[in-house]
Amino acid sequence: MPTPFFYHPRMLRYSFGSRHPLNPERLRRTIDILERIAPELKVVDPGLAEDSELLRIHSPDYIQAVRQLSVEPKSQFEYGFSSSDNPAFEGMDEASRAYTGGSVCAAQSIVEGEPLAFNIAGGLHHAMRSLAAGFCIFNDVALACVLLADHFERVLYVDIDVHHGDGVQQIALEHDRISTFSIHEHPESLWPGTGHVSEGDENTFNLPIPAGTSGDVWKEAFERALNLVVDHVQPSAIVLQMGTDPHLTDPLAHLEVSSQDWLGAVRAVKSLHTPIVATGGGGYNILNVPRMWVGAILTLLDRKLEDELLLVAPEEWGLHSFSDASPRRGQNALRVQDIVVDFGQRIGSLK
Ligand SMILES: [Zn+2]
Repeated sequence: MPTPFFYHPRMLRYSFGSRHPLNPERLRRTIDILERIAPELKVVDPGLAEDSELLRIHSPDYIQAVRQLSVEPKSQFEYGFSSSDNPAFEGMDEASRAYTGGSVCAAQSIVEGEPLAFNIAGGLHHAMRSLAAGFCIFNDVALACVLLADHFERVLYVDIDVHHGDGVQQIALEHDRISTFSIHEHPESLWPGTGHVSEGDENTFNLPIPAGTSGDVWKEAFERALNLVVDHVQPSAIVLQMGTDPHLTDPLAHLEVSSQDWLGAVRAVKSLHTPIVATGGGGYNILNVPRMWVGAILTLLDRKLEDELLLVAPEEWGLHSFSDASPRRGQNALRVQDIVVDFGQRIGSLK
């Protein structure tokens, strides 16, 4: 059976300009490779998210502001549109509805019985109810969770982006059938400065990882925490945000995670045998993001990762292997161990 993969080239118009780190070229290269090596993906145009869908998670005045600023771009600080992180741009209403529509359709596919659906343009986890933040305008992953929670008893959001999934956490606090689990760089060293173990309510789970931690330590901590969360939550559907920015080459963060360890986290979520909406997310090294997303997608499709598959990409894209050579090992193992213990004690106290 082909797996639905929601994509349309209009999603590439989600761009804050050529000097902004969120480069649509990440998506274009990923799609280019997948078209040649993954015939089991059925590419479907999701169209645009509608007001009735956006209103499930965003305020009417914010939706209206995005529509207006999309015609006449300017700074509007009360809604988070500024000249640096989130500059308003012409056409941003349609571009934002395009990636959000992908997550709406992916959630609908899962409701209709698909075990897996993709929206790699999505994963914009920082947008708040009435605020653009961290390059995110509409929170497509929070919306996917809300739509799934209409039909599934327990929905689990899993976020492996290096930044805390703060927008989803905030929106999920209003929905008692959604739990959020985010592993991210520790708030002491990375924006947005939230994501402590103790935050949120009984459906909020955060695993902050200190700067400099190596991938083996990151992956083991993720797997242990994921097992604790899954035992506790017993999810019937999952939304997986696959930000690639924990990677050791990422210019915006400070973890030392190899692509093979990051893919191990994707594999751990796959092994739960629970229906998954899988999205993209952050990741700012253009030489790296496409191979990690392709690797993640093939992993979720139960395909073997053979480096030869990457030979379809132009040489200058620099995509040679799904694995990194000789990554560091054991960095911050003791400190991370303590954080996982805290994490486990907090879950234990909720029982
Ligand atoms: Zn990120």
